[in-house]
Amino acid sequence: MTLRRPYTYCTLLFLAIMGITLVIKGISSWLIVWAVVYLILLVLGASKIQWNFFTQSLHKGNHKNWVALTFDDGPAAATEKILDFLRAHQVPATFFSIGARAAQHPELVKRWDSEGHLVGNHSYHHGFHFDWQSAQRMQQELQQTNEQIAAIIGKTPKLFRPPYGITNPNLAKAIARSGMHSIGWSIRSYDTTAKTSEQLLARILNKMQGGDIILLHDSMEITARILPELITAIRNKGYEIVRLDKLLDIPPYE
Ligand SMILES: [Zn+2]
Repeated sequence: MTLRRPYTYCTLLFLAIMGITLVIKGISSWLIVWAVVYLILLVLGASKIQWNFFTQSLHKGNHKNWVALTFDDGPAAATEKILDFLRAHQVPATFFSIGARAAQHPELVKRWDSEGHLVGNHSYHHGFHFDWQSAQRMQQELQQTNEQIAAIIGKTPKLFRPPYGITNPNLAKAIARSGMHSIGWSIRSYDTTAKTSEQLLARILNKMQGGDIILLHDSMEITARILPELITAIRNKGYEIVRLDKLLDIPPYE
């Protein structure tokens, strides 16, 4: 059975309101008003993964003393530096990999796995047009990435993070057909646009709570730079850094 998402109810409500307005007022400017409201809701629902508007994503764990670090877009410029630091300080993490980059740097994908980190799927191309594709094409990208990762580490990911955190009905279908878990976050660091280390650290640490999933990018030098201070601060607050499979209590691979 398909789970009804807010998108379904929102669309049914929109159609009902349009119908009632038509009956009461006939063709009127109210129809345009409702259509604009509906469109705004769709855009917000697509961009706010926490709303679970089109598909159910996992954003947070229940354990009050655990948090998880997640790195998107690698293998990339800062992956090696981040891995060296995580190894030295015994910190497990989750890396959501772009399939095409995994194909270019299999040695780093191997390191992710052999050093105790999780490898997740973050689409094959992470193209700007990703969300405009058909469900079938998206599903192929998910599968291509899974096959790429499986060819390197012998494990097929079950965790998928939508590129840009954007979801829509086609992606919802692709995720469901792939049998994967959609993974969001509860803390977006905005490390891709951060100007200073202080700003970036504050964005993460000021609102941190147990169960948080922190979104970072191993494509960013600034992320590698703040990592020592970030990990020390997280530990000083009394949290343990765990992998996503432990935080969410789900199997990470098929
Ligand atoms: Zn990304």
